[in-house]
Amino acid sequence: MPHDHHDHPHTDLPSEPSLRVKALESLLLQKQLINRDALDEIIDTYQNKIGPQNGAKLVAMAWTDQSLKQALLDDPMPVLQQLGFYGRQGEHMKIVENTDDLHNLVVCTLCSCYPWPLLGIPPSWYKSDAYRARAVREPRKVLSEFGVDLPQATKVRVWDSTAEIRYLVLPQRPAGTEGWDIPQLQKIVTRNAMIGTEILPPQNGTLESGEA
Ligand code: FE
Repeated sequence: MPHDHHDHPHTDLPSEPSLRVKALESLLLQKQLINRDALDEIIDTYQNKIGPQNGAKLVAMAWTDQSLKQALLDDPMPVLQQLGFYGRQGEHMKIVENTDDLHNLVVCTLCSCYPWPLLGIPPSWYKSDAYRARAVREPRKVLSEFGVDLPQATKVRVWDSTAEIRYLVLPQRPAGTEGWDIPQLQKIVTRNAMIGTEILPPQNGTLESGEA
């Protein structure tokens, strides 16, 4: 390794994400900083077993249970520990609720801090320099590029994640979902809605749900 790049090992890595990961993995294995089995297990867990589904379930639960929702907004940690949605990269969570008056958006300006136990591995745009810089500077413009056009009266609050605290947006429950149960509701909760870059669209109710 070139010695002048010690602080930024990633600058020597290929630009294509999967190649970057492979290169990093090889480097870490070579330096015996990680064990291959442990690494495979971690990746499989956050990529395939968790994904955003834990977060979606939590949102669906909050929508259907006012006291649970309040507990999550006050202090989510006991609830998350009880549900097992807790661990690596999710040590201290704060849940922020979208309302008609307030829209929340999550970013990590410093790197890519993200609530892994609830949302899995962050999408590449979340880690991009552009998103990290612009989410704070011009959140409405960024939101608009994601297809979220908010009324001027709606306030936007941007939350900067850190190693100490991670955020999850509690999206507004869409119209047309009255009477839905948790499994139905959790299917419509997207990852981006829980980061704040999407507003869940109204549903047509259960009449058109022709899916198996
Ligand atoms: Fe970070």
